[in-house]
Order: sequence, then C-alpha cells, then structure tokens
Amino acid sequence: MANPENVYLGQCNCGAVKFEFTGAPVASGYCHCVECRTARESDTFDFIAWQPAQQRITNGNDKVRTHSHTSSMTVSFCSECGSGLFHTNVLGVHSTSRSLFRHSHDGKVPQGLEPQLHIFYGERVMDVADDLPKFKDLPEPFGGTGELLA
Ligand SMILES: [Zn+2]
Ligand SMILES: [Zn+2]
Repeated sequence: MANPENVYLGQCNCGAVKFEFTGAPVASGYCHCVECRTARESDTFDFIAWQPAQQRITNGNDKVRTHSHTSSMTVSFCSECGSGLFHTNVLGVHSTSRSLFRHSHDGKVPQGLEPQLHIFYGERVMDVADDLPKFKDLPEPFGGTGELLA
C-alpha cells in the first residue's frame, strides 16, 4: 500500500465524513488507557495520532458531532452512522482508529501507519504478546515517564 505523498485519507463507515492528514503521524500504536477503552468499548484503542494542524475535514464537517467523554478527552463522531471519528486528548492531539484509513487505501491500513508501540500499558486489561515496546504510560517526549513494562 505505497503512499508516497504521505496523505492519509480516513472516513466514517457511511462516508458522509471524510478527512485527511498529511505527513508522518505523531505516533501509531495501541493505547490501553481507561479513557480510550471506555470510549471504544474495546480492550485496546488502535490509534493513529497527529497534530490538528495536519488535519483537514474534506467532506461532511456539518455531520461531525463532539461530546465530552471525560474532563480531559472529547470524542467526535459522525451524526449519520455513529462511527467514532477521532478523540482529542489533553495534549490537543487528535487520534483515531487505524482502521478508518482502510476505506481509501484498498481495504488495507496504508504504509506508514504501522503500529510502533503500546502506551498506558500499565492500565491494560490484558497482556499482548508482540515485540513492540510497552510503555507504562507515555514515552518521555510526550510527557510520560518512559518506563517500559516489556
Ligand atoms: Zn458516517
Ligand atoms: Zn488512551
């Protein structure tokens, strides 16, 4: 899934909302924090994170609804189909499910968005057996302790 221009196109399930971000993601991995898990009702959140300045909503801006999930996180979703679009956390970073990008990239996650790490592994509800680094909270450049649990 080559993507030489580093433009990543994402959309909700019904296609009413389309967005893109350009450039390398801030991070790509799995988040185990309780906020993401409860926002998604899943054991991990398969996130791609980028800065808001990298993002452009190309279709259906009027369909984007946002609610406060917790005091430090908002969740945006499509008002037509209910798909989760992205979370905005206390750092102001947007993150979304990696799989939202498959719609525009031949049904696959595009090159450049491969998962690199696990974050908030200290809050996990299950162990994951893979070779990615597992940070107890966040790497130091993102304001965490940088402590690795595996
Ligand atoms: Zn939709
Ligand atoms: Zn999280």
